[in-house]
Amino acid sequence: MKIAVVGGGPGGYVAAIKAAMLGAEVTVIEKKRVGGTCLNVGCIPTKALLASSSMLMNIKEAKDYGINIDGEINADFKAIMGRKDKIVNQLIGGIEFLFEKRGVNLVNGFGKLVDKNTIEVTKEDGSSEIVKADKIILANGSVPVVLPMFPYDKKRVITSDEVLGLEELPESMLIVGGGVIGCEIGQFLRALGTEVTIVQRGDQILPFEDKDVAKQLQRQFKKDKIKVLTDSGVEKCEVVEDGVISTLSNGKEIKTQYVLMAIGRKPNLEGSGIEEIGIELNRGKIVVDENLQTNIEGIYAIGDLIDTPFLAHVASKEGIVAVENALGKSKTVDYTAVPRCVYTEPELAAVGKTERQLEEQGIEYHVGKFEFRGLGKAQAMGHFQGFIKVLADKEDKIVGASIVGPHATDLLTELSLAVHLGLTVEQVGDVIHAHPTLSEGLMEALHDVHGECVHAA
Ligand code: FAD
Repeated sequence: MKIAVVGGGPGGYVAAIKAAMLGAEVTVIEKKRVGGTCLNVGCIPTKALLASSSMLMNIKEAKDYGINIDGEINADFKAIMGRKDKIVNQLIGGIEFLFEKRGVNLVNGFGKLVDKNTIEVTKEDGSSEIVKADKIILANGSVPVVLPMFPYDKKRVITSDEVLGLEELPESMLIVGGGVIGCEIGQFLRALGTEVTIVQRGDQILPFEDKDVAKQLQRQFKKDKIKVLTDSGVEKCEVVEDGVISTLSNGKEIKTQYVLMAIGRKPNLEGSGIEEIGIELNRGKIVVDENLQTNIEGIYAIGDLIDTPFLAHVASKEGIVAVENALGKSKTVDYTAVPRCVYTEPELAAVGKTERQLEEQGIEYHVGKFEFRGLGKAQAMGHFQGFIKVLADKEDKIVGASIVGPHATDLLTELSLAVHLGLTVEQVGDVIHAHPTLSEGLMEALHDVHGECVHAA
């Protein structure tokens, strides 16, 4: 069976390797470098940068731990960006190695769908190649949304694609959008010294999470001296000689060196041939059935192209399921336990339903909450702001959870497993959790659902 994959991001490259492991003859068509948004301008570079800013924040707190650091502490922006590039390159090399090991054929160029078995690839030198396949997996990913009132010049008015390639630390930046990308990049830049203002349309940053969760990060942003303007938007934006003047919805003007648009992403369909060959779209996203197949038999679509959470781990899971289905199975993806993570300081992580969703859906629920400050391990680490919140339905099933605090993104997995398997508060709360660990906080929050939390304040 010949399988062609358009796009080498976390959806496409995982699909390709899986297909090769299952015995298919696989070609990946990628116009840039493998790794996609995630590896080149997304998950990994942002986390590498946040590791640098977090290191700086920790060093500044060293005295609290009895460590004296003499002399000036400063951040070398170029070295930080260089470290990020090195990590990205290393990981890209890793994917290329895996392709070679599994015999995946990589064709560098822009892929355009011609029909259900044919992709025309235009290469950088202008030449073209035809790739034929029995089944095609579309994994073209997404691009940042750019609204017309922003004069997107890629120099002063930029998106996350450009911010990750800056050569100098900005003096000031207006970030439009307080979602995950805006929050992560904002905190990184602020830690290094940039004056950061975040403009957010609704009444909280991270609008998809519960208010108490977002508020905790907003409190930290206040300490960091990141200005957060909620219930506010940008009406107009003008590039001037030494920066950008933005007019806010309340009529106020704000001048910054840069404006970063972090207002969302949309499927990358331009020139792809997807619409031309009749693949069905709904509000700009490819429509797939529960097996991830499009309306054209044998063509599957995954990742940021379809109407499922725009996250790397979702794209990869869909890549595996699409390949299995292309090879004859009838698998589906269970989206009830998709982890949502924000890698700020403190970290945020959530899975399943939020309180807001449960209320909107009229589902009766119980809450268990535990503050990190009640944990010996968190106190010993000196990182104890935040809490763990568990939501259970009336049958005691864990239906959602949110964590704000140290290592939240890693801690979440136990609760993701619980939501995925439909485990009850009693089942997970019964597990002996090691002492002293941060995971004890999960156990305490679970016990709190039944009012049985021993260390409740
Ligand atoms: P992509 O990663 O976008 O890959 C698509 C690939 O297809 C690209 O390499 C592109 O060059 C190629 N391509 C497109 N069209 C063609 C064509 N016609 N021919 C040939 N090649 C083509 N997600 C997380 O889970 N965790 C995070 O921490 C996280 N952080 C992020 C931070 C930022 C700043 C951004 C922007 C995104 C972040 N994301 C994160 C989201 C994540 O990057 C995406 O959800 C994920 O990369 C989607 O994977 P994909 O394979 O669908 O598409």
